Amino acid sequence: MSTAIVWFRRDLRLDDNGALQAALDAHERIVPLYIDAPDEEAPWAPGAASRWWLHHALAALDRRLAERGATLHRLRGPSLDALRVVIRASGAVAVHAQRIYEPIAAARDRRVSEALARDGVAMHLASGALLTEPHAVTTGAGTPYRVFTPYWRAARARLQPRTPWTAPARLPSRSIEGSLPLDAFGLLPSIRWDAGFDAAWQPGEAGAQQALDDFLGAPLREYAEARDRPDQVGTSRLSPHLHFGEISPNQVAHAVLRSAADLGAGARQAGEAYLRELGWRDFSQYLLHHNPTMADRPLDPRFERFAWVPRDPHAQRRWQRGLTGIPIVDAGMRELWTTGWMHNRVRMLVASFLTKNLRQHWLDGARWFWDTLVDADLANNSQGWQWTAGCGVDAAPYFRIFNPVTQGLKFDPHGHYVQRWIPELAGIAAPLVHQPWHDPDLLRRSGYPAPLVDLAESRAAALTAWKALSG
Ligand SMILES: Cc1cc2nc3c(=O)[nH]c(=O)nc-3n(C[C@H](O)[C@H](O)[C@H](O)COP(=O)(O)OP(=O)(O)OC[C@H]3O[C@@H](n4cnc5c(N)ncnc54)[C@H](O)[C@@H]3O)c2cc1C
Repeated sequence: MSTAIVWFRRDLRLDDNGALQAALDAHERIVPLYIDAPDEEAPWAPGAASRWWLHHALAALDRRLAERGATLHRLRGPSLDALRVVIRASGAVAVHAQRIYEPIAAARDRRVSEALARDGVAMHLASGALLTEPHAVTTGAGTPYRVFTPYWRAARARLQPRTPWTAPARLPSRSIEGSLPLDAFGLLPSIRWDAGFDAAWQPGEAGAQQALDDFLGAPLREYAEARDRPDQVGTSRLSPHLHFGEISPNQVAHAVLRSAADLGAGARQAGEAYLRELGWRDFSQYLLHHNPTMADRPLDPRFERFAWVPRDPHAQRRWQRGLTGIPIVDAGMRELWTTGWMHNRVRMLVASFLTKNLRQHWLDGARWFWDTLVDADLANNSQGWQWTAGCGVDAAPYFRIFNPVTQGLKFDPHGHYVQRWIPELAGIAAPLVHQPWHDPDLLRRSGYPAPLVDLAESRAAALTAWKALSG
């Protein structure tokens, strides 16, 4: 009877899990294992909101395993030590895990794999986190793509989502002594700022499936237009589930293409539009894989000498708390603080405001998102910040500075999104709700702050700084 460890990391699911499947194909019994080793991901160890999610996702995974007669073993890192403890206690001859592409985690996996090989234990890494492996598509010259559109053309052409694999009803498993209670990881925040998270999310595989099912009807059909509207539920909200691997991108792509085909001709386009966003997710991982310093350094090296304004703790605090006096920016920052998530269009607006109107370094914003987003993802977050700040590859050029008032009027035309998150402005209609400083009396009565900076002046200053860099 041979035993294998299934080392769960960013694949907290049983269905369509290639590592679990490979372990069951080759061995009679498994030991499901999770190792808490945040230090191994430093300096980008999971932030507070991610750890909240992880706590609940691990509890959900444990319940799914228990339904199948298995138990999730929880140990503290270092990973190699924990694996060796379990190998000794269970007699496991192999370790199966899903591949992680982030440079720091990938380097850790290489070290662990080499050390285990010396012990005579094989470590197998399965694909499953992405639709397309980062090494699978290259330009005609064999180099990595730096522009999304040709990358996606090449990746889409070879993409064929397969029927997802379903986990068996029973999982033959071994139990070993020494598993820690979930609370021992201390994942939940000591300050209870997370009350809004409970209302907004259901971490775990069932919650992921529910979010997908909710999306597959009318929202999918409307996706191409509604995805830019923060005042509507126009997107799938699958990002934290995808980050933690509670659902695979293959499961999502497969279901979306099937539903789009069922919904008729018009929906095909919507299906492709959605798939393209999953393509951006893959492309972020692709960029990070091929540019390992992307989380900390600008992809456009000119930005190493950009004239960022020295860190301004007061301005950053007002940005973080949603008190800049620019309604759509503040609505987004308050949505983030309350729910751990923010609409993509608004992420771009708040990032643009911080890096262009306030000219604060993009890494300060990326760090705040890292701590407060439940979907915080090193590749997507670094890519999103570099794209908006203008220092990424294939990025919005720095000189293209979003105007948060016109963006608000376009994508939140009735002001419903702003009013939902800024009670001080409830009852003020659009267009004034997006620029309340135009009525100083009303602004005073509302208790909402005046703008932290003048939008036109700060824009001009940003363009001057850009010219100095590019000229
Ligand atoms: C400054 C900034 C920071 C960001 N940080 C993160 C982050 O830490 N984690 C994260 O998952 N996304 C991040 N994004 C991308 C995007 O905002 C979120 O993925 C999206 O809002 C998630 O909502 P959804 O699941 O409803 O998206 P949907 O529109 O339903 O899209 C489906 C899936 O596609 C992927 N996706 C969608 N848009 C993007 C995009 N622009 N780039 C990469 N993948 C995308 C996500 O996995 C998403 O779940 C960031 C964007 C910006 C501008």
